[in-house]
Amino acid sequence: MLFDTHVHLNARQFDEDREEVIKRAQEAGVDYMVVVGFDRETIPLAIEIAESHDNIYAAVGWHPVDAIDMEESDLGWIEELSAHPKVVAIGEMGLDYHWDKSPAEVQKEVFRKQIELAKKVQMPIIIHNREATQDIVDILKEENAEEVGGIMHCYSGSVEIARECIEMNFYISLGGPVTFKNAKKPKEVAEAIDLDYLLVETDCPFLAPHPNRGTRNEPAYVKLVAEQVAELKGISLEEVGQTTTRNAFKLFKLDQ
Ligand SMILES: [Zn+2]
Ligand SMILES: [Zn+2]
Repeated sequence: MLFDTHVHLNARQFDEDREEVIKRAQEAGVDYMVVVGFDRETIPLAIEIAESHDNIYAAVGWHPVDAIDMEESDLGWIEELSAHPKVVAIGEMGLDYHWDKSPAEVQKEVFRKQIELAKKVQMPIIIHNREATQDIVDILKEENAEEVGGIMHCYSGSVEIARECIEMNFYISLGGPVTFKNAKKPKEVAEAIDLDYLLVETDCPFLAPHPNRGTRNEPAYVKLVAEQVAELKGISLEEVGQTTTRNAFKLFKLDQ
């Protein structure tokens, strides 16, 4: 039993063989997934995929790299979609200082607006962070994001910051990098953080885990992430699968 909490099956990289990829995931024991839509093109397809598959859900938000393109009407659209029965979270949202398409100030404003929206509709948020850890933690605090909580997706920070995020009602989601030989921090986090606060994800088609690094990632590979977490913790794959799935159910309010 596995729950891939962050997939982009709505990416064009899957246009040719989307259904086969979903079937392979099911065969690998990936029973549940959340497809993340983050702009005008990827959101409708995330909804469509979630509507046509029983155990696939959707998240809707605006990516920080494209913050500059977001208009007021997009925020209204995201709010409308939050009422859709298959939508379980708002995001991904956050800050990305690696690419310079959107100025930091614009990113911060778009991030704050989405946190505000999530609090209004009472849904958890999915956080994308690239080279912006301190500003993200500050904004989450200032906006009182603790009220809704959510996911630090593809977490690559320190154990210390992870604990700070958990204090704010966030789960720590580990992806492909935890399997990379040179990725010290995600391995430390997998070891130190209690399984009750961890999730697993692929972020496919990006960041394929070892030994598939550099190829197109897909949800079936979340098993490699879970296996690595199990090995680092000295527990079984089953336990990692069951507990992280239970965590995701609780977070996305699927168990009610
Ligand atoms: Zn992301
Ligand atoms: Zn993503």
